[in-house]
Amino acid sequence: MGSLAEERALGYGGLVSDLREVYESGRTKDLEWRQSQLRGLLRLLREKEEEIFDVLCEDLGKHRGESFRDEVGSLAKSVEDKLQNFKKWAAPEKASSLLRLIDSDCSQPAATPLVAFPATAFVMPEPLGVVLIFSCWNLPIGLTLEPLSGALAAGNAVVVKPSELAPSTAAFLAANLPKYLDSKAVKVVEGGPDVGEKLMEHRWDKVLFTGSSRVGRLIMTKAAKHLTPVALELGSKCPCIVDWLDSNRDSQVAVNRIIAAKWGTCAGQACIAIDYVLVEEEFAPILIELFKSTLKRFFTKPEFMARILNKKHFQRLNDLLDDPKVASTVVHGGYFNAKTLSIEPTILLNPPLDSDIMTEEIFGPLLPIITVKKIEDSIKFLKSRPKPLAIYGFTRNEKLKRRIIEETSSGSVTFNDAIVQYGMDSIPFGGVGASGFGQYHGKYSFEMFSHKKAVLKRSFLIEFMFRYPPWDDSKIGL
Ligand code: NAD
Repeated sequence: MGSLAEERALGYGGLVSDLREVYESGRTKDLEWRQSQLRGLLRLLREKEEEIFDVLCEDLGKHRGESFRDEVGSLAKSVEDKLQNFKKWAAPEKASSLLRLIDSDCSQPAATPLVAFPATAFVMPEPLGVVLIFSCWNLPIGLTLEPLSGALAAGNAVVVKPSELAPSTAAFLAANLPKYLDSKAVKVVEGGPDVGEKLMEHRWDKVLFTGSSRVGRLIMTKAAKHLTPVALELGSKCPCIVDWLDSNRDSQVAVNRIIAAKWGTCAGQACIAIDYVLVEEEFAPILIELFKSTLKRFFTKPEFMARILNKKHFQRLNDLLDDPKVASTVVHGGYFNAKTLSIEPTILLNPPLDSDIMTEEIFGPLLPIITVKKIEDSIKFLKSRPKPLAIYGFTRNEKLKRRIIEETSSGSVTFNDAIVQYGMDSIPFGGVGASGFGQYHGKYSFEMFSHKKAVLKRSFLIEFMFRYPPWDDSKIGL
């Protein structure tokens, strides 16, 4: 392979074939190699923590407190978890080999048909090969390194393509990943859509894409040429149902957590950020007053909230309020500072449901509140819209919780908190329907980049002749 610049001009064919050669050598399958890569990632997170805070601040104006909570700290825990458990995940899992007869007890686990008896069977996770990870700019460390850690734990050779829209983080990853990881098996390719398109010309064993549905569609179309499996982590409008909360304390806790999940996470530029709130009419004014007072207490300095990525996104958010029918519903905030690309936390009450702010993903610090007559009506509201990545519900009502779980569909459901599900390694993260498909995080990141190979072993011992011709009716029903 030439330099990355030469590779770019040549369309990355050399890079992919070099990685395939490394993978075929068997090096990345070795458990010790996988362990050393995970250790390398952990060292990177610990030794370069300050640099990571700096680049996240340069790209997004994120405060180091937020960067630690959402990117470095949660990621380090997740890599530690993989280090502890990946050998167990990579081990073959014995399958039942009990004899299954036609009239046998079906409560037993699925087992061996008579023709294959006796046999032993197991499920053997194997790496997929050479995989490609596209990441996004809003959590540019976590959305790159979490899937990377899963791909390495599973024994793959990997290319990561960070987003060009977080250039300092992309440059940091390109400069540092080769120092901490096996640079022959892990490559960072920087660049924008043209580079992404060139990469997608090649055959990969899996592509994990995080980004917009528009580009997700292009990725899937290109992947089809090589029958490359894809996982698409896309966006959506994540609703938050807030039920009447009888105690002042519960209401305050709910508001704290909604604020953290909206304005306190990359200024609302997060795929699982709360997009809008559904609340009963009489509760809305109480909630709005609590939002106002709490926002004032939390964001005492401008640098406590991230800024908008760039001018284009700033303008896009501005345009959402362009419609006078929408602008007239602003009940708090609404100040846009083009110089600093910052937007004041903004709350709207009942903007028209057919306006852009209620039909497009907001991905910024604007929060519409939509009132319903009865909180149960919000279920019908959700069911009439595309399946989101996350649904949130703040309530003590167990019946309402059950109805939300059973009657709606979404990547995840979280009660009485928001966004924190992202850091739970024991549950999968991913979308459904319009919000994408494929799940990762924790063990699911390992599974995302593994194939569960079925292995069956027979001996030469017993031979049933009823399975072979010549056929006659006495062989039916055995
Ligand atoms: P995007 O779709 O423009 O870009 C994502 C990645 O694809 C980048 O690495 C980019 O360089 C690459 N890319 C862009 N055009 C390409 C092309 N033609 N061919 C190949 N690669 C190409 O990202 P965006 O629109 O800025 O991201 C915001 C969206 O991402 C939002 O909808 C958000 O909800 C979603 N998102 C989802 C998750 C998740 O985990 N589900 C996380 C973060 C963001």
